[in-house]
Amino acid sequence: MTRIELLRDELNKYAYNYYVLDNPLISDFEYDKLYKELEELEKLHPELVTPDSPTQRVGGISSGFEEVKHKYRLYSLDNTYNYDELRKWYERVTKECGDGQKLVCELKIDGLAIALSYKDGYFVQGATRGNGIIGEEITQNLKTVKAIPLKLFQDADVEVRGEIYMPVSSFEKLNRESEKPFANPRNAAAGSLRQLDSSITAKRDLSMFTYTAIIERADELPKSHWDSIQFIKKLGFKTNPNIELVNDIEGAIEFCKKWETERFNLDYATDGVVIKVNSLACQNEMGFTSRAPKWATAFKFPPEEISTELKDIEIGVGKTGAVTPVAILEPVQLAGSTVSRASLHNFDEIKRLDVRIGDRVLIKKAAEIIPKVIKVVDSPEHENLPVYEPPLTCPECEAPLEIREGEVNLYCSNEKCPSVIKAKLEYWVSKEAMDIDFIGPSVIAQLYNLGMVKSPVDFYKLSEEDFLKLELVKEKSASNMFNSIQASKSRPLSRFVTALSIRHVGKETADIIVSELPSIEAIMNASVEELSNIEGVGEKIAQNVYEFFHNPENVKMIEEFKELGFLFENQAVMKTDELSGKTFVLTGTLQTMTRDEASDKIKMRGGKTSSSVSKKTSFVIAGENAGSKLDKAQDLGVIILNEDEFLKLIGEI
Ligand code: NAD
Repeated sequence: MTRIELLRDELNKYAYNYYVLDNPLISDFEYDKLYKELEELEKLHPELVTPDSPTQRVGGISSGFEEVKHKYRLYSLDNTYNYDELRKWYERVTKECGDGQKLVCELKIDGLAIALSYKDGYFVQGATRGNGIIGEEITQNLKTVKAIPLKLFQDADVEVRGEIYMPVSSFEKLNRESEKPFANPRNAAAGSLRQLDSSITAKRDLSMFTYTAIIERADELPKSHWDSIQFIKKLGFKTNPNIELVNDIEGAIEFCKKWETERFNLDYATDGVVIKVNSLACQNEMGFTSRAPKWATAFKFPPEEISTELKDIEIGVGKTGAVTPVAILEPVQLAGSTVSRASLHNFDEIKRLDVRIGDRVLIKKAAEIIPKVIKVVDSPEHENLPVYEPPLTCPECEAPLEIREGEVNLYCSNEKCPSVIKAKLEYWVSKEAMDIDFIGPSVIAQLYNLGMVKSPVDFYKLSEEDFLKLELVKEKSASNMFNSIQASKSRPLSRFVTALSIRHVGKETADIIVSELPSIEAIMNASVEELSNIEGVGEKIAQNVYEFFHNPENVKMIEEFKELGFLFENQAVMKTDELSGKTFVLTGTLQTMTRDEASDKIKMRGGKTSSSVSKKTSFVIAGENAGSKLDKAQDLGVIILNEDEFLKLIGEI
């Protein structure tokens, strides 16, 4: 088989799995790479191009629904991962239409393209893109999508195009509840829309961003793409707010760079930026190739997903004693860094995905999140590989592993397991807890192995000289480590409570407990009942907290902390009338602080924070590029503050 034939077969197989089964076998990046290779080979050997080559058609393939011929063809888009290619494209634009061509930059929504027809202002038909010429008729299902108007604000005959998507939060919720999870929000949206029973579609949270209108009859005819977006809004459609009109390609590149990172703050998936020539006259002049407009192009963000070989499964033991599997991978480049380890969550997940050592797996990385294994991909050897068996004993101390009621993890049954103790010490120094710089896992391992630190309180008994006993530690770093530990004595009480690693008590819960019981004595003296009466603290957590502070070893440890000069008793929350008891939701990027810092400021003043907007939300603080939370706040009439207004409210300006 020639390379061209092989590529054609492989790409057709991948496209079938992607478009028909909603179950991609490889990442988009890998698909695009193979596609480019086929395109190049076909350019060199045009005689070898066959009608079934994936380069000869636009995207999708039909499956099951009634077919409809589109009145106007739906095209695909050329794409690139490279800024220089964007510049070359713009050269072609200016060559054809003259200098100074303005461009419209839109986010490329990673959903499902659809076409909607309106006659006399009424929605009459909706179809998937299909192969661009023939699509699937899914009008009934589309009628369940609230963002699609059934009647326009104007009497007009139009066909609009847009992207149906599922918010990331809804996708995650759906996956948690379903037995057969979808690989990504796009597949979840496609699968939901292709339900033969539209009452199932109605239950799924789908929305739509509209980006094109073909106007047959209307009161006005826009002259530019920018104007047509305003017109689409006036008709009653939802358009994406993150859109910009720029003067040239450098402006467009700036937009791409900004969204490469900002996109992670959005509640919908976007895989790139679509850049379109603004002038409709120029668009007409340039026209189309057989599959895509020449007046538009897509810049695709560096891949977040890629496949690689699973070389081994390592077992880690965390601070709760939870024993978790970690994937050891053949190193690959992903979103700008080399990835050689990824999370596999727990042993149930390995079973569910049927991951076996030696498989090819798809891994995914979103901003700041540890990469995770999504699924096994095209793995010809899979069936011949041994099924993975979870361990029976702790890899560190060999104690038997136990199952705890209602929990998916396996746990080491030994409370004094060295791995658990080291993990707790690592958590103690972490940013979320006591925030101690210069002390990392390797220093902790040495301190523990030399018997110098066995409990967090031991950190505070170390002298500067003690650190010089560690490998590669010179005076300067010894002094940094010592000072950093000492400085942490004045951390607020809520951080101290967080750092204690009490079961099920993370940062949020510690904040809640401290806001009601603002001294260490109050917490230690509280009964299970008093603790469980605090809103947000359940019976189980109350029991854990009570037991922790009534364990003689822990009582002794707290006494020692006091003797060492810990300040926690005077770190009570300074409640202010403006913030006390109010609920805040933070969205978008703030300029003078991170969202965590803003959240700390709110909690210090007796307020609460939440991740979702509801009628109970008192204020939404909206930074730059605030997304759907801001829309929801506007819908519900919640007070919206910008950064300056927030700083005024808390008395900082
Ligand atoms: P595409 O997704 O790269 O781009 C075209 C589409 O972008 C349009 O049809 C439209 O639906 C969408 N779009 C989103 N926002 C838009 C906006 N603001 N303006 C205009 N259009 C917008 O192309 P395609 O033909 O739909 O699909 C091909 C791509 O699908 C490939 O490049 C590949 O990444 C992916 N794919 C992946 C696999 C796989 O196995 N992983 C298989 C087949 C295809």
